[in-house]
Amino acid sequence: MPATLIKQFMCRGFRPALIFKACYEPPAMRKSSQPPLAAVFRALLARFGPQHWWPGRTRLEVCIGAILTQNTAWTNVEYAIRNLRRARALNLAALHAAPLPQLAAWLRPAGYHNLKARRLRAFTTLVADRYGGKLEKLLARPAAELRATLLGVNGIGPETADCMVLYAARRPVFVVDAYTRRLLQRHGWCGPQATYDELAALFTAALPRDEKLFNEFHALLVALGKNYCRTRPDCAKCPLTKANLRPET
Ligand code: SF4
Repeated sequence: MPATLIKQFMCRGFRPALIFKACYEPPAMRKSSQPPLAAVFRALLARFGPQHWWPGRTRLEVCIGAILTQNTAWTNVEYAIRNLRRARALNLAALHAAPLPQLAAWLRPAGYHNLKARRLRAFTTLVADRYGGKLEKLLARPAAELRATLLGVNGIGPETADCMVLYAARRPVFVVDAYTRRLLQRHGWCGPQATYDELAALFTAALPRDEKLFNEFHALLVALGKNYCRTRPDCAKCPLTKANLRPET
């Protein structure tokens, strides 16, 4: 890994020992059936550099973004969050008090705005009813309990819940999205029927349980999916090809 990247990671509190463990684990230590995740991480970090996720200013924005980003591009989410900010509704009390049609109008740029308004309202209701309107209280719960609680909210599935647990509560759970699944499938590292939890377990079993590592790895996989491993993969230019990790044909 280039020295400049290591420096950037150390500035963010990323421990050198962790970089070493994640990036330089000798192949002999890996089971042959396991995807070479350390090598994938190293190749992506070298190509894209640290991603500085999540793109939200506060923990509440992270949670809102995680709900709104379902089935839409992030730029549309940003427009919706900007509407909330302009309306001075970017706080739990205002979000919870707003009439549902008003909330839906603010969220319109994110698509499926009526549905997402109901989902956001279900989330604010959870925080209001069970945690006295204090998001920090909810996020302070143990990771497994927090995840189970979020999964109990209408419209919050595993990916959305894990985004909140990782990026808002800063606990080491691995977020699996469509880009991650596509990469694993194209390389033959999972089958088409693999469940969300099975895919997440590939990462949590093979990597040190470190929130910063999981944060960075997921963000890098999104960069890979957006730039190279698209619907039509650009394997010739992909950093994984350069790292001799191209799938066998
Ligand atoms: S673009 Fe090709 S080499 Fe790159 S991750 Fe996708 S399938 Fe693998």
